Amino acid sequence: MNVIEIISTLTEIQARSDRMRRQGKTIVLVPTMGFLHEGHLSLMREGKSHGNDLVVSIFVNPAQFGPGEDLETYPRDLDRDLDLVRKEGVDAVFVPDVHEIYGDRFQTYVELEKLPNHLCGNSRPVFFKGIATVVAKLFNIVKPHVAVFGQKDYQQLVIIRQMVRDLNFDITVIGSPTVREPDGLAMSSRNTYLTPGQRVSALSLCQSLINAQALLESGVRDAAEIIDSATDRIRSHPDTEIDYIAVCDPETLVDVKTIDRPVRMALAVKVGKARLIDNMLLKP
Ligand code: AMP
Repeated sequence: MNVIEIISTLTEIQARSDRMRRQGKTIVLVPTMGFLHEGHLSLMREGKSHGNDLVVSIFVNPAQFGPGEDLETYPRDLDRDLDLVRKEGVDAVFVPDVHEIYGDRFQTYVELEKLPNHLCGNSRPVFFKGIATVVAKLFNIVKPHVAVFGQKDYQQLVIIRQMVRDLNFDITVIGSPTVREPDGLAMSSRNTYLTPGQRVSALSLCQSLINAQALLESGVRDAAEIIDSATDRIRSHPDTEIDYIAVCDPETLVDVKTIDRPVRMALAVKVGKARLIDNMLLKP
């Protein structure tokens, strides 16, 4: 196992990044909130192929949690996370505390005008403002050449790409495929909230997406019909409460009515205490 640098201060990580850049290294950043699983590890493996200095950040970002959400109970296990990243050949882990990131009197936020007005943004009003802000800060702090994000959080990926273009960050954003459990459930730190019964209900998310592609292949083009079918499927499982099911343009996230080109189907469902999301590219 390689020696890994564990850094919790801004000055140290900034000095380290400056040193790496002077040495001609290509810095790759994988931002996470910790409680790592195979999905996160796949981003690290992807990251390795885009550079030669791999930095993982672990930071549960309060700015992206709304009142009544699970900030306090969000699962955390730093020792386990560090064991996992060591095995992936990560060069440095950045684990700041909240004060290190937000300091005193923090008041400057990054907010996008349109992309957050869809999908998860409707029920989580501060979510993407919190994410765009913390990711912009991490970009300025860690100064990566490349950053890797999961397609699992599709709206987040689209928003980060837009922010990078709009604010001229000199960073290449890589979107990495969703890693799933053998039965199809998208891996998520929040899956630990599920009871065994809810774990079965949670499968209805990915099954609805797979079924949507099958409907499309059987000739259905009406997005409403596909959404209705997914709604029925999910509602037939106990402990599920649908937040949204959408069929949208992959870039603007605007709803699509007739599917005559590739679209993103995305959904968010509360299963017991866990708010789960999933998405898939649907191709007619
Ligand atoms: P999180 O710790 O939930 O903030 O996620 C950190 C990064 O891991 C984000 O870019 C997520 O999109 C990505 N990620 C989370 N779950 C998965 C998954 N199942 N497959 C691929 N990437 C994932």
